Amino acid sequence: MKDNDHEPTTNDAGIPVSSDEFSLTVGPDGPILLQDHYLIEQMANFNREMIPDRQPHAKGSGAFGYFQVTQDISAYTKAAVFQPGMKTEVLARFSTVAGESGSPDTWRDVRGFALKFYTAEGNYDLVGNNTPVFFVRDPMKFQHFIHSQKRRADSGLRDNDMQWDFWTLSPESAHQVTILMSDRGVPRSYRHMNGYSSHTYMWISAKGERFWVKYHFKTDQGIETLTQKEADQIAGIDADYHRRDLFEAIKRGNYPNWTLKVQIMPFKEADAYRFNPFDLTKVWPHSDYPLREVGRLTLNRNPGDFHTEIEQAAFEPNNLVPGIGPSPDKMLLARLVSYADAHRARVGVNYKQIPVNRPKSPVHSYSKGGAMRIEKVSDPVYVPNSKGGPKADPKQYPEAAAWSASGEFIRAAYTKRKDDDDFGQAGTLIRKVMDDAQRDRLVSNVVGHLKNGVSEPVLKRVFEFWRNIDKEIGDRIAKGVQGS
Ligand code: NDP
Repeated sequence: MKDNDHEPTTNDAGIPVSSDEFSLTVGPDGPILLQDHYLIEQMANFNREMIPDRQPHAKGSGAFGYFQVTQDISAYTKAAVFQPGMKTEVLARFSTVAGESGSPDTWRDVRGFALKFYTAEGNYDLVGNNTPVFFVRDPMKFQHFIHSQKRRADSGLRDNDMQWDFWTLSPESAHQVTILMSDRGVPRSYRHMNGYSSHTYMWISAKGERFWVKYHFKTDQGIETLTQKEADQIAGIDADYHRRDLFEAIKRGNYPNWTLKVQIMPFKEADAYRFNPFDLTKVWPHSDYPLREVGRLTLNRNPGDFHTEIEQAAFEPNNLVPGIGPSPDKMLLARLVSYADAHRARVGVNYKQIPVNRPKSPVHSYSKGGAMRIEKVSDPVYVPNSKGGPKADPKQYPEAAAWSASGEFIRAAYTKRKDDDDFGQAGTLIRKVMDDAQRDRLVSNVVGHLKNGVSEPVLKRVFEFWRNIDKEIGDRIAKGVQGS
């Protein structure tokens, strides 16, 4: 039954309820009756509304849109999503790394840039950042790195001393720390930042030829950033500044766009390249491997329910479609395992059946059972079978994303190439890319950070760390902190 304007409220079983206002009591002043199932359902569901934060990248925002291929790069990959003219529905999620789900959007931090392409050959996920490199190059150090950026065990406080202690004892972090402390450490909005695959991936052409690639999503809105002062002020006024900006821009019809460009390295060139092309702390200079345009990403639809569409969105770099594969980047290889594991822990084993994660292409897998399974499973439930079940087709889908390796089982750093060192590319960024005003702000950002709780012996190592990147900048930072 309906009154003039509203559907009648029901409980979760669809049964109409008799009050939105009053619990069922013995007389107006009496005790509440246990048979008020609706009240109990409301209280119990409320207690279970939250799911665990992502660890890390807890605070984020997302939107839907599409990716349109504008150039012909079919000679390099057979992936359906990158064939000429192809238009594919996309989900994007942007995030900060270290803060919890309610933390201010404008804290200085790297930003996540995660994409899910709903392709004709299954979901393709590209889970990158707004920076082309990362703090560490071996996954053994990742957990420790994140601990050092989050909260202390004793006080539960964040601690700059802990951050610089880790960074200065991990010189491979120098390149990413330089970017983090530069203007790009606080984007003006999610719309005004680039996205990078950061990792190197493999592309495979229809002819079976292999290439190494790096992705660059260049913002068509232009790079814009906030100064430390602006960011601090906004953090105190509107913790959701970037979330609000993205949602409101799309609501107004001001759809943000990014142009995807790639760097392509022929497979064999990786062996002799002057930098290890799989080291996540390094870029490939554009002069060595120029950017080539692929297509355009547009976001044009806001989520209707943030929880089901963004909080429960599960991006996983192991979602690689035919024509795209991993590379020997150790960080990437570990992420191929850990992301799916995180979703199983946080959302549940059948997370891929939640509509936002469900492929638009048909699923013919042999997975069955598990908590919260929604899709029905049909017989046969095993392979090989003679009952007409799906069969892998190695001719059509060969294991093409492959390379060869041999050697003793050891725990060691990558073999060094001619130009590999931890400080070189960070120094190039400061000397070649930044102008005087950007260098001034870099020094000011670092000095401000160091004056907020960083003590000896860490401080001495910090000055050395910066002098290794650039002698002059290191001296200026030391002077800024010590005052002489
Ligand atoms: P280029 O001059 O060809 O490219 C410099 C790049 O730096 C541009 O992509 C620019 O991005 C980006 N940039 C500008 N300011 C900053 C900043 N504060 N933080 C991070 N990136 C910034 O030089 P090379 O390719 O020879 O690289 C020189 C240095 O530039 C590298 O050592 C690296 O630190 C940095 N860089 C290089 C990238 C690469 O893939 N080669 C990518 C990003 C940074 P935009 O065009 O959007 O302004």
